[in-house]
Amino acid sequence: MEEDVSLFGIRGFLIDAPEFGTLHGQRGGALVIENGRISETGDYDDLRRLQRPKPVRWIDYGPVAIFPGLVDCHTHLAQYSAVARGESELLPWLRQHIFPVEREFTGPKARAEAPQFFHELARHGTTTAMIYAAIYEDSCEIGFEAAKESGLRVILGEMMMDLGSYGQLQPKKVVSVSLLESERLCRKWHRAEDGRLEYAFSPRFAVTCSEKLMRSAGEMAARFDAYLQTHLAENREELEKVHHLYMSARDYTHVYEKCGLLTPKTMLGHCIHLNPREIAAIAGAQSSIAHCPTSNLFLGSGLIKLDQLLKAGIPVGLGSDVAAGPELNMWQVMRAAIDVQKARGAYEPNLRPLRPSEAFYLATHGGARALGKGDMIGTLDVDKEADLIVVDLAALLPYPGNRNALAELSTEDILALCIYRGGPHANLKTYVRGKCVYRAPNLASPL
Ligand SMILES: [Zn+2]
Repeated sequence: MEEDVSLFGIRGFLIDAPEFGTLHGQRGGALVIENGRISETGDYDDLRRLQRPKPVRWIDYGPVAIFPGLVDCHTHLAQYSAVARGESELLPWLRQHIFPVEREFTGPKARAEAPQFFHELARHGTTTAMIYAAIYEDSCEIGFEAAKESGLRVILGEMMMDLGSYGQLQPKKVVSVSLLESERLCRKWHRAEDGRLEYAFSPRFAVTCSEKLMRSAGEMAARFDAYLQTHLAENREELEKVHHLYMSARDYTHVYEKCGLLTPKTMLGHCIHLNPREIAAIAGAQSSIAHCPTSNLFLGSGLIKLDQLLKAGIPVGLGSDVAAGPELNMWQVMRAAIDVQKARGAYEPNLRPLRPSEAFYLATHGGARALGKGDMIGTLDVDKEADLIVVDLAALLPYPGNRNALAELSTEDILALCIYRGGPHANLKTYVRGKCVYRAPNLASPL
């Protein structure tokens, strides 16, 4: 790919959100990428005039915006083929539509789908993703191989479940086999490709995991300094199930606390139905939350109390959560995050809405911070690794031929167009560590 060079520059409208509530924009800007990192940022005309020991190869696609790559903190490799299926809530939906699809995700089917899945992530502008595979070792191994090839930044883990599993193993053997396989995968893939690939121990959730399994997963994650990911408090029926399974626990979160699953490297999916004690416990453990609004709307799971989580200081990122979320498009996830808070606002008059810049922060630097990567990626600052997307602004306009309209657009206007109309049709290029990992097929020569 043509930008696989050690030094190049890209021209465009630079937009990033370093903090929750701040939005930076620079019209006529440019970035210089050197050895995979952003080495210079500023005005295109100024940067172009600078004398350097080595000449910069400039890429100019016309009216484009350059954003930090999008971060998807929660999604499922083995479920993508089942998006938009069913009309039920979480537990019956899992049984009827998801377990049968995950059960098949092994061997040739996994080998056929996994490369496409990562290609789709890159095509949608996602540069970093935290992902669950199916329960089989090969589903995760094939996933890592495809992630390696894709060039994306990926945290992946074998799904662990020993209660009501769709697997064929005798229930007594599941824990030891699942732990052995997870350990093997972690030893092979955690921090592979110079840290671009990492491992997450992945107990599904308390409904399908014994205390023994969860405790062992927590111990192993600590031993390897790996990530942990699980689901928490997504749905009311799930809460009741957990209450009956773990009668001695004070609440759902307490089950995970007792098993050692709340750590600074833990990503908790959903967290819709939490009490104040649980929010304080998660904040105290410095665990992170993946908010998955398109999924929550699809399954009717509930409206997250995002303001309370953020006020408690919990790092929050966004997740597509396919297949409960119908697509990998993180712009749509941002839009849904805004809509969920608007829906709450209709019944809670003093609630402040979530602004587009804040949703964008959650999908970029916020997600990076939730994964402990805030120093590495998530903004367009000098010295960050160059995980970027290049978006065609004309493709977002109601009348794409009306290019004069582009000159009028403010930073906020461009961001709103992306959130309400963005997606792969407007994504020209995706870069990870300065390497092009996706290029729109109709893109003209870069120079
Ligand atoms: Zn999920």
